[in-house]
Amino acid sequence: MELVGHCVSCGAPVYCKDGFLDGVSENGRLYCHECYNKDDGEDDKEKSLQQ
Ligand SMILES: [Zn+2]
Repeated sequence: MELVGHCVSCGAPVYCKDGFLDGVSENGRLYCHECYNKDDGEDDKEKSLQQ
């Protein structure tokens, strides 16, 4: 497990576990899952509509 960076929203460390990023990298910004999920949701809504 290696430290990739810190969540731009809450500053929590984001690690890479077994080759998988334990967070979300979007537009060059790094988020933890928690912040990504509770984000204002505009992007999530768009993704949901597209599915
Ligand atoms: Zn966060």
